Amino acid sequence: RAKLGGRNAVCFFDPSMLADVRARADVEAGLWIALEQRQFVLHYQPQVAADGAVLGVEALVRWHHPVRGLVPPGEFIPLAEECGLILPLGRWVLEAACAQLAAWADDPWRSRLVIAVNVSARQFLHEDFVAGVVAALERSGADPGRLDLELTESSLVTDVDKVSEKMEALKALGVGFSLDDFGTGYSSLAYLKRLPLDQLKIDRSFVRDILVDPNDAAIARMIIVLADNLGLRVIAEGVECEEQRDFLARNGCSSYQGYLFSAPQPIDALEAFLDARRSRPAR
Ligand code: C2E
Ligand code: MG
Ligand code: MG
Ligand code: MG
Repeated sequence: RAKLGGRNAVCFFDPSMLADVRARADVEAGLWIALEQRQFVLHYQPQVAADGAVLGVEALVRWHHPVRGLVPPGEFIPLAEECGLILPLGRWVLEAACAQLAAWADDPWRSRLVIAVNVSARQFLHEDFVAGVVAALERSGADPGRLDLELTESSLVTDVDKVSEKMEALKALGVGFSLDDFGTGYSSLAYLKRLPLDQLKIDRSFVRDILVDPNDAAIARMIIVLADNLGLRVIAEGVECEEQRDFLARNGCSSYQGYLFSAPQPIDALEAFLDARRSRPAR
């Protein structure tokens, strides 16, 4: 057994750790190759109004692995954040989403849809973030007013002046901002009044048991009232059944996302889904 670690650390080497390190290194190398070989794809999940009209879609990245098949983001985004791949990957996601907006621009009602893109903290806090978004918009010709960026609380807990400066720069172009997974992070409510947000997203963990857990119901109701009083829109994620939707609707929630309406789908399936529904202007 080898002794590792610094002055005060006593850490015994466990051979299984080596396997972990190797497995991680393999995945990391695979991720860089995946980017180069264009193995990432976007799936899109509809965001709907109370009457079921589609307002927009959230772009959710997947890794189309040659052997493992479709790998969900939970299995590679954290690693991509650690190893820095999130910067080029995040850039690719933005460009792909903007290209999709541009492809919809000539269609009378698809052009009204918003595409929401997830932005990780490391990506948002990088000094080139605003320039990257602007470049993606310009290169594609997408309407900035159709782009929504989903930030998490971890993006906001740093220098609030710097954060709001970045948000304002993009807001001036028409880009919208949602606060994803709201209530699960560490941010203080003070951020809500200082940052130019447009929408709060009620996290799936509060929606899941909303019908049976009075605490979850209370938190969801509180978020809806808070958003309303701050002049923000509110969307619930992870809505799986009509009873959850109805509960949220009775409490004033205006938009919804979840398996009840549709799972995230590849672009062809999404477009078929959209065609099968009537839609209306999102903004
Ligand atoms: P998120 O942004 O909170 O996305 C919502 C997640 O909930 C998605 O998982 C979606 O498929 C899932 N979901 C939606 N409706 C339901 C439902 O009714 N029931 C259940 N059980 N799940 C539902 P997904 O696609 O696996 O993404 C997981 C997370 O990965 C996302 O959470 C987001 O944080 C991250 N992510 C996805 N794409 C990107 C990306 O392009 N960039 C970054 N930085 N993160 C991403
Ligand atoms: Mg999201
Ligand atoms: Mg979310
Ligand atoms: Mg979530």
